[in-house]
Amino acid sequence: MTDIAPKMEPDSAVYKTLLESTKAIPWKIDWATMQFTYIGPQIEGVLGWPQDSWVSVNDWASRIHPDEREAIVNFCVAQSQAGTDHEADYRALAQNGEFVWIRDVVHVARKPDGSVDALIGFMFDINERKKTEAKLIDLQKELETLSFKDGLTGVANRRMFDSVMELEWANAKSNKRPISVIMLDIDYFKQYNDHYGHIQGDHCLKQVATTLSHAASRSRDFFGRFGGEEFILILPETSEQSALTVAERCRKLIYDAQIPHEKSEIGQRLTISLGVHTVIPSYGDEPIPFIEEVDRRLYLAKQKGRDCIAVDA
Ligand code: GH3
Ligand code: MG
Ligand code: MG
Repeated sequence: MTDIAPKMEPDSAVYKTLLESTKAIPWKIDWATMQFTYIGPQIEGVLGWPQDSWVSVNDWASRIHPDEREAIVNFCVAQSQAGTDHEADYRALAQNGEFVWIRDVVHVARKPDGSVDALIGFMFDINERKKTEAKLIDLQKELETLSFKDGLTGVANRRMFDSVMELEWANAKSNKRPISVIMLDIDYFKQYNDHYGHIQGDHCLKQVATTLSHAASRSRDFFGRFGGEEFILILPETSEQSALTVAERCRKLIYDAQIPHEKSEIGQRLTISLGVHTVIPSYGDEPIPFIEEVDRRLYLAKQKGRDCIAVDA
């Protein structure tokens, strides 16, 4: 039989091409000499410093922001000595004088006798993500000041939603990551107001907001009042499947709260309908048509009979 199987062992040229075509920047430091034995040429695109300017570990340490240099170096040395794989986020000095957030993920390679042989790692450019996080913290602070707070329920208002959505959309677009949005609306709320009165209606809206405000728990998840008796969640970096899980949790939280609604046409308690949509936005995509699609799905959930979720187009 002739051997027609393709050669599965990549040669070193293949490895080199693979390593040098990823966005992550590979590097290796020899433990005995504390010298770089390799760093990917991508480093120049991120920090500006040429590949051959990375000679010893001092070239790395001296390019860490002075505010965190000592802590980062001490942490990485201690982890390496202990033989523990680790990662660290820090600001690296670029050749143009600016600082770029880097995540360094480090693997400790050992000799057969267990002693440290080399450090092998990848540097990731996390600058955009860090900038987004900083802006979100600013927005969060603004939320504390009333302009971003809904007067009735105390959760984030429509203005805050617009700002967070714009930021997360841009972030999802540049990182090619999925973003999910859930829009929900109380079922037969007109009848609720008519039967229990507007004051009780307001009280009910507060209860719904409080009940749902912790339904999504990741630090960048957003929950706010979209308007009237409609609420909205933004779930960054979240797949459709996970968004569906959060939507179902919302639906169940309200159902299990057993808020009486005698005039609901589908039972004796308050329920909500939800629309869910997920996208990895591409260049040129805008958030408004996406939100319109979420709204359309919410409408589909109403048509399906309410107290349910519509996720498909
Ligand atoms: P559906 O199941 O199709 O959603 O029916 P619905 O009766 O909920 O219909 P719709 O969404 O059109 O009704 C919204 C109602 O919510 C009408 C409006 O008076 C009431 N609403 C909106 N904002 C407030 C508010 O701040 N307080 C109170 N009490 N009611 C509000
Ligand atoms: Mg409604
Ligand atoms: Mg409505």
